[in-house]
Amino acid sequence: MKDKELTKHCSGCDTTKPITAFYKRAAAKDKLDNFCKDCRKSLNKKNPPKYDRAYMKAYMAKWKEKNPDYMKGWYDRNPDYASNYYQKYQKPKDQAKRKNKKQM
Ligand SMILES: [Zn+2]
Repeated sequence: MKDKELTKHCSGCDTTKPITAFYKRAAAKDKLDNFCKDCRKSLNKKNPPKYDRAYMKAYMAKWKEKNPDYMKGWYDRNPDYASNYYQKYQKPKDQAKRKNKKQM
């Protein structure tokens, strides 16, 4: 039974490896990562963290490419929201810009 504690099955490469081949993870039940270090390394390359900025940016760009009409029609579908947004955020910004110009 003791041997079982010292190894762990990696769900990435489907191999049983010594626990030293795994990263520690406090949140996990057994305090160890489900993927071995090798798998984790290649995983990180392929799938960067979900909310990584560069990743999200690339994801959104791809998504917009696939849905070019969605953004175009958005303002038509949400005229109230669009004008509210303008009143709340864009207008003050525009006014501030004008003010700054005057001062210069
Ligand atoms: Zn692995």
